[in-house]
Amino acid sequence: MSAKIIDGNAIAEQIRQEVAKEVEELKAKGITPGLATILVGEDPASQVYVRNKGKACEKAGIYSNQHTLPANTTEDELLKLIETLNNDPKISGILVQLPLPEHIDSIKVLNAISPAKDVDGFHPLNVGNFFTIKDFADMKGLFLPCTPHGVIELLVRSGVNLSGAEAVVVGRSNIVGKPVAMLLLANNATVTICHSRTKDLGEVCRRADILIAAIGKPQFIKANMVKDGVVVIDVGVNRIQDATSEKGFRLVGDVDFEQVKEKASLITPVPGGVGPMTITMLLVNTVKAAKTRR
Ligand code: NDP
Repeated sequence: MSAKIIDGNAIAEQIRQEVAKEVEELKAKGITPGLATILVGEDPASQVYVRNKGKACEKAGIYSNQHTLPANTTEDELLKLIETLNNDPKISGILVQLPLPEHIDSIKVLNAISPAKDVDGFHPLNVGNFFTIKDFADMKGLFLPCTPHGVIELLVRSGVNLSGAEAVVVGRSNIVGKPVAMLLLANNATVTICHSRTKDLGEVCRRADILIAAIGKPQFIKANMVKDGVVVIDVGVNRIQDATSEKGFRLVGDVDFEQVKEKASLITPVPGGVGPMTITMLLVNTVKAAKTRR
C-alpha cells in the first residue's frame, strides 16, 4: 500500500480563504484585525518565518506591523515595546519570534504579552485554560497553540476519526508535543507521549493508529516502527546536506517519508504538510483576538 498524501498547502489555503472572508465581515463592522510581529536579531530562518507571516496577513486582509530589532536589544527595551503594543488599539495580536537571543529571558517576555493578544497561545493563562478544558468543542474561544492546532485541523479535514483512536506523540516539548497530546485527548483519542527516555520506542509507535512525530531528528521514524494503515503527521523540519540542491541542503521531516509512505494510509510530506498550517492557525488566532477585543 502507498499512502495518500495529506496536502498541507491545500488545507491551509482553504482555511486562509475562510479567514479572509471573516476579515471582510469584520472590516464591514469597522474592525480591522492587526498582527504585530517582533524579531530580535538576524537568524535567517526566523527572518523567513516573520516575512512569511507578514505576507500571509496581507493576503488575508489583516493589518500587520513588523518590528525588527538588533541582536543587542535589551530585555527592558523589548518589554517596553510589548507594553506599547499591548496598548495599541490597531494591534489585535502580538507574536514574538523565538528563539530570542540568550541574554533575554523568553519566559519573562512571553508573559508580558497581554493574554488577550497572545496569538501564539504561550501565555501561562492561556496554557492553563487550554489544559483544563476537557472537550475540543469548548476550546473555540481560546488561542490554541498554532502548530498543534494545525496538526488537528490536518487530521480532521482529512476525515480521520480521532475518537477512540490510539494516538502516539513522539516529543514532549511545550511548543509541540505536549499541546498536541492535549488536543488529541480533547478529541477523545487515547494518547501516549514518548520522549528520549521511552523504552522500546518502536514497540510503542507500532501501536499507533495516528502517529505524530515532533522530535527534531531527520528521518528518525522508519517503516519498521509503524503498523500498516497508520496515519502519520510529521511535524519535524530538519536540514540535511544535498549536493544536488542549489542551496547545498534540503528539508526533511522526522519521518523517513519514502519508507513509511509504503505502510501508512495517510501521511504529511515535509515541506508542504504541517509547515503551512502553523502560519494559517496564527491568522485564525489573530481574527479571534480582533473579534473578542474589549
Ligand atoms: P524539541 O527539541 O523542543 O523537542 C524534541 C522532543 O523530541 C523532546 O521531547 C525529546 O525528548 C524528543 N526526542 C529527541 N530525541 C528522541 C529520541 N531519540 N527518541 C524519542 N524522543 C526523542 O523540539 P520541538 O518540539 O520544538 O520541535 C520538534 C520538531 O518540530 C523540530 O524538527 C522542529 O523544527 C519542528 N517544528 C516544526 C514546526 C512547524 O511549523 N512545522 C513548528 C515547531 C517545531 P526529551 O524531552 O526527552 O529530550
